[in-house]
Amino acid sequence: MTAEQLSKLWAFARGDIAEISFEKWFLGQNDLEAPLGEGLHWSLASADYRDRDVVWKLRKSLAQHLGAHEKCECASIRDLAAIPMGGDGLDERVFATIENVRDHGGDIWWLHLSKCSECGQHWMIAQEERIFDQYFLRRISDKVAEGVLAGTWPDEFITYERVLNIGNTFATPCVFSDAMSGSLIWSAEELRKARPEITVDETARSLGVTSKNANRLLRANGS
Ligand SMILES: [Zn+2]
Repeated sequence: MTAEQLSKLWAFARGDIAEISFEKWFLGQNDLEAPLGEGLHWSLASADYRDRDVVWKLRKSLAQHLGAHEKCECASIRDLAAIPMGGDGLDERVFATIENVRDHGGDIWWLHLSKCSECGQHWMIAQEERIFDQYFLRRISDKVAEGVLAGTWPDEFITYERVLNIGNTFATPCVFSDAMSGSLIWSAEELRKARPEITVDETARSLGVTSKNANRLLRANGS
């Protein structure tokens, strides 16, 4: 199996490539039966890719088959992914090999560049431990990573507001028993500092609180 074939198979297994375009590509490959095994190969070649349950099972079996040969989790992580802190231990498995290379630093405390010591994959990581308790990961090319080392970070996680908005597409914000918790007050302050014209409703959406609460949080910071 070539590196390109492996990369395409993984992209399908983790959900980073559309079903129909994968099917088309797969049917054009004529040397994958041996590496995949007859059963899995037949399933991939004959499946109804419009059936979501079928596709879900295919992705799972393929990931299992490919994962048996991997020494790290990188290939199975989506190009843009959210990994919960704690929980079922996925973060421990992922970060067993992904190591910090560069902190952005300064006001942008959440942002890091990391690299996997097994496969060499670079990841841009936003570590969000106030509102979501998640790591957000973006797979980046070596070229983009070089840019980061030279001081040019991609925009995706560059503001706290962007990170929170990405968080909202993956997960529900933590529910705070204290509506005026420090994490919420600091985060509201951070959002307004970065973008003074942010509205109360936008702040509320980003933090997963009511507009009334967002208003109090912003006022707590002295406006
Ligand atoms: Zn890796």
